[in-house]
Amino acid sequence: MTSVHPLMSTALSTENVVIIGSGPAAWTAAIYAARANLRPLVFEGEPVGTELPGGQLMLTTDVENFPGFPEALSGPELMDRIKAQAVHHGTRVVSELVKRVDLAQRPFLITPNYSEPITAHTVIVATGAAAKWIGLDNEMRLAQQGGGVSACAVCDGAMPFYRNKRLAVVGGGDTAMEEAMYLTKFASEVVVIHRRDAFRASKVMANRVLNHPKVRVLWNTQVTDVLGSDAITGLRLEDTVTGASSELEVGGLFVAIGHTPNTRFLEGQLATSEHGYIKVASWRTATTVDGVFAAGDVIDDYYRQAITSAGTGCMAALEAERWLAHHGLGESSMPETAASPNGHQG
Ligand code: NAP
Repeated sequence: MTSVHPLMSTALSTENVVIIGSGPAAWTAAIYAARANLRPLVFEGEPVGTELPGGQLMLTTDVENFPGFPEALSGPELMDRIKAQAVHHGTRVVSELVKRVDLAQRPFLITPNYSEPITAHTVIVATGAAAKWIGLDNEMRLAQQGGGVSACAVCDGAMPFYRNKRLAVVGGGDTAMEEAMYLTKFASEVVVIHRRDAFRASKVMANRVLNHPKVRVLWNTQVTDVLGSDAITGLRLEDTVTGASSELEVGGLFVAIGHTPNTRFLEGQLATSEHGYIKVASWRTATTVDGVFAAGDVIDDYYRQAITSAGTGCMAALEAERWLAHHGLGESSMPETAASPNGHQG
């Protein structure tokens, strides 16, 4: 961060690119936009409860699958490094949440929580998605300190900590099925804990889980407490039909009860899927509003990886750069292309 508040120097001018978010998608978009001399302005947000600037990686202990880091690094360290790279190339950062945007007027109007509203020719929305948690105190504490509670099996499940242990997965949707199947590679046993007597997941994925020799399902069961001080040792369970309680010894808990894309501040100005993810053109990041692009987990209910987020962040910056060049704005090194896939001329 520079010592002068970034908004002080830009109060009267319109930004080329405003990026909203602070995960791998946002900072990668910033790196590309900054290197294209677009002087991007990033609203990185501010801590609210368990939501931190940096997004879901702030709750990830070891990241072993981000290319270029053969020795694992922590999620927060990875975010620091990507942000530092963006700042190094000239990105300006405001540590505030965006309260609302007006995408019906041009340039777009962006209203932060505390500072004066600003205008921007293009906007990249990279606000991510928040994993849903059960809401137990010890669940959050152990998730934050790397004590064996996670909301992403693909991110964390391969770590030595989880090997050859009984692992629990909570949830009955496709994500829970996918996480359970993934964990069978490492666990001695995978116990899927679901609050009803039938999965919500697609039949094909549910059957794969139900037929796997390493998987056991506890139907009509909910987790009422997570046990363990430094690391998880077990779960307290309750039968949702009889109310009977029991304990289950586990070496890891994977909460897979869904995600909520962070789009509330958009107030419905961009089209979304039925689950609230921002709709973008196929293999592009253009949204339903010309000049607004979206990247990362806020468009993705399928891959949800740091590297795929970073990839779509790069795409969004390149598309914003092309959009500006086409409209004779900004300063761009990008060649203009033929019509972009969402219909507007890119
Ligand atoms: P989801 O379909 O909303 O399922 C969430 C599951 O968690 C449900 O079974 C729900 O139980 C349970 N749940 C919710 N809150 C809970 C709580 N507080 N305590 C205990 N259990 C709770 O979410 P998802 O599985 O993440 O899937 C989201 C979307 O992505 C779906 O459309 C899915 O098909 C898609 N997806 C597709 C794939 C794939 O095709 N490979 C992979 C992952 C996700 P109830 O059933 O009782 O409501």
